[in-house]
Amino acid sequence: MSKKYPICVIGGGSAGVMAVLRTVLNNDETLFFPGTKRDRKRSREKWVKKVENMPGHLEYTRGIQEPNLESLNWLEQGVFKEKFHWKKDLGVNSLEKHQDYFEVTDSEGQTYKCESVILCTGVTDVQPHIQESIRDILPFANKQTADYCLRCDGHHVYGKELAIIGESNSTAWVAIMLYERYKNPSINIITNGKKSEFSEETRKLLKAYKIETHEEEIMQILGDVRSGSLDGFVLAEGKNISAEICFISLGMIVYNELAIAVGAEVDQRGFVLTNSKGETNVKGLYIAGDLRANLKKQIYTAWDSAVDAADDINAKIRRENRKKVLELN
Ligand SMILES: Cc1cc2nc3c(=O)[nH]c(=O)nc-3n(C[C@H](O)[C@H](O)[C@H](O)COP(=O)(O)OP(=O)(O)OC[C@H]3O[C@@H](n4cnc5c(N)ncnc54)[C@H](O)[C@@H]3O)c2cc1C
Repeated sequence: MSKKYPICVIGGGSAGVMAVLRTVLNNDETLFFPGTKRDRKRSREKWVKKVENMPGHLEYTRGIQEPNLESLNWLEQGVFKEKFHWKKDLGVNSLEKHQDYFEVTDSEGQTYKCESVILCTGVTDVQPHIQESIRDILPFANKQTADYCLRCDGHHVYGKELAIIGESNSTAWVAIMLYERYKNPSINIITNGKKSEFSEETRKLLKAYKIETHEEEIMQILGDVRSGSLDGFVLAEGKNISAEICFISLGMIVYNELAIAVGAEVDQRGFVLTNSKGETNVKGLYIAGDLRANLKKQIYTAWDSAVDAADDINAKIRRENRKKVLELN
């Protein structure tokens, strides 16, 4: 483990791939861990299908993974290939901070020294439990009749009977916003056995927009799992809710363990706090993408935050080298 790499990028989704693209094109030697198959399966990158809210993505059926792979293959074969250490199918199990480097242990137990780390491990969306399992919703998520991201897929609800699953005040706002935008023929909120936590203001708006709330548990999803076409939900006591599309609004699980392990500060929801360049309170630890606090959870913001981090590290590397040049002259 004697070699010290200037940069290590952890995570191979939107932020991680943009980070490594930028660091390598900056001619900074970079170790890149995209994550194990398990890491990828539980990340958002895997669940994103067609990307419709960004130019140039319509032909991809896996809107993050396909263009990412194109870029990584291009880097691997290009003029900067010596600077690019792509640890395929490897994740990072632990991160330790030492005086002037981070010790990174990969998912096979090998350790590396890195001066700076760009952590891009992202988040995942909480799934509804139906009869204690999350499995029932997944075929519909795969076909995008169950959606999660308003800015990405909110427009899918246009003209459709809609159900929103969740109990928080944010859930109510999802319903209100979608109604105000798309005037759906029907909107029902299903709390799936939880008590709704709506404020007085949201309750009034829900009433004005004829959005009903149902606090019974979901017993069954109606629809065709093969095609992903959704018909609705059967609730406890046999109540049927008709819905052609649903939005899941249950919050996020934040993959912040590595950041917390080295002492990075997080906000109340677990997102990691950084300065405007993405550096945390831990010197040399940068955060990009969904994991970073106070950032829109989108591909283009993940890209932007990754570029800010990579360029800030590059500026520091150049500044150090420049100092040496001046000392010698
Ligand atoms: C269903 C859905 C649809 C969406 N559609 C759009 C859309 O159309 N347009 C849009 O702009 N945004 C969309 N988004 C949001 C978008 O997916 C995220 O904003 C984006 O993926 C964030 O990038 P990220 O790199 O932070 O996280 P991710 O892309 O989720 O990547 C996280 C990465 O971290 C890796 N990882 C995790 N743990 C480890 C570890 N220990 N070691 C190494 N690697 C690890 C994983 O393997 C993964 O590669 C959508 C989200 C969802 C859920």
